[in-house]
Amino acid sequence: MRSVGRIGLLVLLWWKQFQSALGSEEDSCPAGSPRCGSCSGRILVVGAGLAGLVSAQTLQRAGCEVVVLEAHGHVGGRAAALQTGPFRGFDAGAQWVHGGEENLPIMALARFFNLTVEHVGGNTDFEGDHERHRLFLAHGPNEDVKAEAFRQYLQAEEHFDRRVSWVIAEQRRDLALRSAWQLILNRSFDPLFEWQLRVRNEQSWGISAEQVGTRLSEVAVYSTFYSQDAPGDAKLIGGFGSLVRELAKGLNVRYNTEVTSISLESAVSVRTANETYRGAAVIVAVPLTVLQQKMHLQPPMSSDWNASLHRLQMGDVAKLFIKFADGQSPEGSGTYLLSKLVSHTSRSLLYYCTWEAATSTRPSTVPAPPPSTLICLLSGASFSEVLKLKQAGKEALRSRVVEELLQMYPQLQSTAVEAVQLVSFSWDPSVLGSWTSGKVGSSSRDFSIFEQAIPGIAFAGEHTCRLMYGTAQAAIVSGARAAHEVLAGRLDGTIGSTWPFFDKELYSLCDELADEARKENCGFTCPTLWAPLPEVVPSLFQDWQGMPKKARRCWSRLGWRPLSWMRQARKPASSFKKWPLLSFAEKTAATCLGFSAETWNAALKEMTDIILCRSGCTHLQLWDCLAKNQQRDWQHLGIDRSTLNEELASAAATKSWRQLTRLQRKAAIRIGYRPWLW
Ligand SMILES: Cc1cc2nc3c(=O)[nH]c(=O)nc-3n(C[C@H](O)[C@H](O)[C@H](O)COP(=O)(O)OP(=O)(O)OC[C@H]3O[C@@H](n4cnc5c(N)ncnc54)[C@H](O)[C@@H]3O)c2cc1C
Repeated sequence: MRSVGRIGLLVLLWWKQFQSALGSEEDSCPAGSPRCGSCSGRILVVGAGLAGLVSAQTLQRAGCEVVVLEAHGHVGGRAAALQTGPFRGFDAGAQWVHGGEENLPIMALARFFNLTVEHVGGNTDFEGDHERHRLFLAHGPNEDVKAEAFRQYLQAEEHFDRRVSWVIAEQRRDLALRSAWQLILNRSFDPLFEWQLRVRNEQSWGISAEQVGTRLSEVAVYSTFYSQDAPGDAKLIGGFGSLVRELAKGLNVRYNTEVTSISLESAVSVRTANETYRGAAVIVAVPLTVLQQKMHLQPPMSSDWNASLHRLQMGDVAKLFIKFADGQSPEGSGTYLLSKLVSHTSRSLLYYCTWEAATSTRPSTVPAPPPSTLICLLSGASFSEVLKLKQAGKEALRSRVVEELLQMYPQLQSTAVEAVQLVSFSWDPSVLGSWTSGKVGSSSRDFSIFEQAIPGIAFAGEHTCRLMYGTAQAAIVSGARAAHEVLAGRLDGTIGSTWPFFDKELYSLCDELADEARKENCGFTCPTLWAPLPEVVPSLFQDWQGMPKKARRCWSRLGWRPLSWMRQARKPASSFKKWPLLSFAEKTAATCLGFSAETWNAALKEMTDIILCRSGCTHLQLWDCLAKNQQRDWQHLGIDRSTLNEELASAAATKSWRQLTRLQRKAAIRIGYRPWLW
């Protein structure tokens, strides 16, 4: 009897395991799906952050059976609301809808779920809407320095923006962001530049500038998403937590289920410490660092894939929440942003904060209650500082916060500070960082490794979205993209659905520039690319015949002739000499054209590209701006989207004209090359 009982128990256990491996009844095609059968089996989604939730919703709404495996006891990941404590309901991570109305992915979800979005800032860095921004000096008198500081600040910005295009044209190598800034600002730092450097970098990359690689031309591509003319940032009333709640509805989520390995060897199987789940495909939507350090993939990915994976990194950002007793907040509802001019290495805690009211949802027509909570973002040197305070204990952190507040608001009662809480995903073993950026030596191509289709597995998450990485919208779009990779065009279940992520325009945003941005970039001409050089020496970019007679005479004195004007091989001797080596007559001719020593030397370095550009060659165009047949011609020369935009060499580029195949020569001619230009 006992042995029959044991066998019965074993059978029961086996049956349970079998059920969990194949999916129980509740896992089957969900009720209300437009149609079952877009997928050929159960799909597993690892990670229930925004990326995982959007991929699961997209698949389920297409009629697939989906199981989401999440390490934590709640969904949302870095977009979750705080679950407990005095700041319960506030966003633990993502807080802003960058770009406001122009943030197509989040706005589409907000409309779908009927969530209200409220405008809060000027542009991505809150540099507009200055009337809601209170700016403090780092030291000295504690008065509000708004008017003068903003005047200087705007001047600094203008100065910066004017120089960016110059440096983009000049620097073709990878730099740490700080070095790029140094070039841009011509080593003339002042406190406002320092502050911009710190705030811009830490806000964009969550890490100090020395550690972030930048190919300036790519930063420009990336930032077209956050156009400086965009209507500014917005917030979801009720926070990102309200979006996460909606996204999780109706999904089959297995909580406290940490996946340790994924095998694609015979079938797709996903292992946790004590269970194995099988499915037709898996979407891996865990953060970058988890993928780098904790997730075992079998068979291993290629060495190129792994090299790219390790050229990316996550930064460290902490959020400091400070609650004021009722009626004792030092600011009224007119102020949204608090910032303090700090240097690059400052350990100040309260240098970039927002004033927030309660988090509950309300229609946008109902005014926000007065702010009672200050939320500060800490990165770089301040992150290390707060880590020490955390180790010293809660009281040490609280007294430091009060001390800094009193410097800014001397009238404040220290008892007005009711609660202080520090949160960072860097300490969460299932995240291990804030958001992703590229190390020095990386390029945007490293983000594209995740977009390659590999049978049985797809990757999603903010780190897998080349054009928007590091953001909530990147996570959302990549989740939808991964779902479509799994669906592989089988969209028969989606007819009549209003789910926004069946729209290709939206789910391909990680790699495709939005139409508007594409148009903006395609407007590049030689003069815009080399601005401000054309303003100084306009004839440099004109046809030989089309330029004024006087300019032609001056160029002739420098050795240029109608034939050499368009030919690489016939450049005159003067075009190889730096300014000090020019003869007196050559200097006079160059001055008559508008050159100074600085602009002459800069143009000298660029002469090869300038000749190519004025000859009409498409090699300085962005891939997306080329017509399909031009793209095909470039491909004949071994150049694709990423190599063209990043100016990486192709094998063909090292060959002489005569060494090219006939097909390659024809392609090269069609895209603007001539034997003498090659
Ligand atoms: C402090 C902070 C502020 C931010 N502010 C903004 C902002 O204002 N605007 C903006 O657009 N973006 C912001 N971001 C970035 C944004 O939050 C993220 O880009 C986005 O939420 C990432 O979503 P994800 O789905 O890619 O990853 P995550 O949200 O990290 O989701 C991954 C999920 O996988 C789970 N997981 C991990 N390992 C395993 C495992 N082994 N098994 C099972 N599950 C696992 C995790 O628990 C997590 O739930 C901010 C981030 C931080 C940290």
